[in-house]
Amino acid sequence: MIDLADMLRREIELEGPIGVDRWMSVVLGHPTAGYYATRDPFGAAGDFITAPEISQVFGELIGLWCAAVWQGMGAPSPVRLVELGPGRGTLMADLLRAARVLPAFRAALDVHLVETSPVLRERQREAVSDVSPTWHDALESVPAGPLLLIANELLDALPIRQFVRTAEGWRERVIGLGDDGAFRWGLAAAPPAGLGFPAAPVGDLVEVSVAGLALVREIAVRVRRDGGAALLIDYGSSESGTGDTLQAVRAHAPTDPLAEPGAADLTAHVDFAALAQQARAAGAAVHGPVTQGVFLQRLGIAERLERLTDSASPEVARDLALGVERLTATGPRAMGDLFKVLALTAQSQPVPPAFESAPA
Ligand code: SAH
Repeated sequence: MIDLADMLRREIELEGPIGVDRWMSVVLGHPTAGYYATRDPFGAAGDFITAPEISQVFGELIGLWCAAVWQGMGAPSPVRLVELGPGRGTLMADLLRAARVLPAFRAALDVHLVETSPVLRERQREAVSDVSPTWHDALESVPAGPLLLIANELLDALPIRQFVRTAEGWRERVIGLGDDGAFRWGLAAAPPAGLGFPAAPVGDLVEVSVAGLALVREIAVRVRRDGGAALLIDYGSSESGTGDTLQAVRAHAPTDPLAEPGAADLTAHVDFAALAQQARAAGAAVHGPVTQGVFLQRLGIAERLERLTDSASPEVARDLALGVERLTATGPRAMGDLFKVLALTAQSQPVPPAFESAPA
């Protein structure tokens, strides 16, 4: 198999230091040796855990959200149900199960999964074996038409660029090689072309999610043109900030992003303010972001938990309660606050459930 460290080293020797975006896209997305192509990273035995893997209630509530939005759209049939980066397919399986409460909605669904990893496509095939989804390498090939689109923890995996304000002006943060041949952080010699930056003190670092912004524009254009809604859920902040948020995680512990490329997950916080601005500029109505905790509470997570635990054994009831607690907990390091939910709809549609009141 291709050794990603060798490949990156050769590229840098030939062409000079590379940006964080190039590093991330190779390390995460290389078609045969990339992080996602080579493993199922979730769960206790993997590197990290995501909301749908913590509790079935997450996908179920999103399913009910989709059903309500679909009714607000005038109940089109078919409607494309699109998930970007479905992981193990758990959210989609939970969503489809919950969708059965509205048989006309369930019958209208035409499922499309956008996934680059062959390993995870196989997991998804097993998880949603009761429907016949179509897989895509990118959103572009999903057919036009009214859509409901979900992306949980996809945007944080998309390549970013980093820029540092130096005494000489803005410079891109790059990865080169030290004398010992090890990967080393550096700054590009020339100022970045074609990008504008605000005034900032020397030392500030800003991140630009090049791929994330392009994807959100594409989603917003579809939603505006064809009708529908998108639900973007991720780790990040509601306001643009400064600072390096690139992080590598292996076996649930932080590690050096430049060590062992392809062996650890790499993510960056999502800048929801920048995404919202991009979506608005593309003509979509933007709702939120709200925190994940508020989103789930407004969708009735407490009542859903009560209903599920009524008929469960004490052990199952305890696990369900712990999962819900973890998804909604508040505090500086808790999922309910750290994760944000942003919704995009066509301008003519009603405000979707959980976004009716002011941002929270
Ligand atoms: N949504 C899932 C998985 C999140 S991990 C969950 O919440 O559990 C990120 C997912 O996005 C993985 O399935 C990964 O293979 C996929 N992915 C990463 N980059 C992608 C890209 N550029 N296009 C489509 N899928 C991508």
